[in-house]
Amino acid sequence: MIKILKHAQVLAPDSLGQQDVLLLADRIGAIAPEINPPTGAAWQVEVYDCRGKYLVPGFIDGHVHLIGGGGEAGYYSRTPEINLSGILRSGITTVVGLLGTDGTARHLSALLAKARALEMEGVSSFIYTGSFEVPAVTISGSVRSDIMLIDKVIGTGEIAISDHRSSQPTQDELTRIAADSRLGGMLSGKAGIVHLHVGVGKHRLDMLHNIAEASEVPLAQFVPTHVNRSEELLEAAIRFAKAGGTIDITSGVSPEMGFTTAVKPSTAVRLCLEQGVPVERITMSSDGNGSMAVYDANGTVDRLLITTLESLAVELRDMVVLEGIPLAVAVQTITSSVARILRLWPEKGSITPGRAADLTVLDTDLQVTGVIARGKTLLWDDQLLARGTFE
Ligand code: ZN
Repeated sequence: MIKILKHAQVLAPDSLGQQDVLLLADRIGAIAPEINPPTGAAWQVEVYDCRGKYLVPGFIDGHVHLIGGGGEAGYYSRTPEINLSGILRSGITTVVGLLGTDGTARHLSALLAKARALEMEGVSSFIYTGSFEVPAVTISGSVRSDIMLIDKVIGTGEIAISDHRSSQPTQDELTRIAADSRLGGMLSGKAGIVHLHVGVGKHRLDMLHNIAEASEVPLAQFVPTHVNRSEELLEAAIRFAKAGGTIDITSGVSPEMGFTTAVKPSTAVRLCLEQGVPVERITMSSDGNGSMAVYDANGTVDRLLITTLESLAVELRDMVVLEGIPLAVAVQTITSSVARILRLWPEKGSITPGRAADLTVLDTDLQVTGVIARGKTLLWDDQLLARGTFE
């Protein structure tokens, strides 16, 4: 099947101006100012008019609770599995699934199966081995062998630090996990990074600096997330990034979502850029499909919300509209920067001939209106053209 996307403003993510983009099955075929359909009955060609629209690499959400998460307000607060439509409506073509607080009643094998299901339904998927806890839960017995032997496992996470819900890992324990993860990645040509949930604890990212200082594990092995949780943590994250690490901002953690001490995600990106952090070391993920408790004045749970993946697109728009970051820079935080740190680039996270035809379409208001994943049109003009098997 051949598709031609006509007259699109292409951000690959570098701005290429107005271009036509040819798709051949699941690949980008060519990018040129004018591409016309071949004539003759042998060709099946779909032509899409993208005049006035932006074409960007499909979003990569590096932190999604695919089989649900939460449970921190009791069993009833466990969130259900994600549906394909929620992923597509958010402009996402690649998800990285993970376990969070609950590594007891949720299992990596179920996460792996869910990731495979989403792949069959149309988007690309990867997972992390482990959960909040240390020693890490695994499928095959070690994080090293999970990463090396299981195709979809690309790293370890979300291991929790500086949080009352973490298993309070020691420096030695975390060093061993990072070393194992690194080796598994090297032996399989994968990222092998350790994605860390960082809580409100006072030690923030200190342990990561200490590990890099005391061992041969480089700072770049760690990617701390939720770093916009507070101003203090964001400051620590900027120091971490300027020392060579990559930091992940959570789009679902914002004052608008009820996290009163958080730095709005789009603002956090601007602050990082202003402080001299290269955009290649800033990523954003949603933490989607987890639970969020809203507390009443007495501190008891008033209601439970499920975090959506849509915050990723909302914060992309706010980066541009409210913070004045050029779209070609802002979009890197959810495409090429993520792909680079996860060693998926340029197959994912770019619009490059020969690479995956994963594309997101934005209108002039930067709203997601279309998604093409591995060459299949799954959302167009706001209409879902694919749904999950049981939706
Ligand atoms: Zn987390």
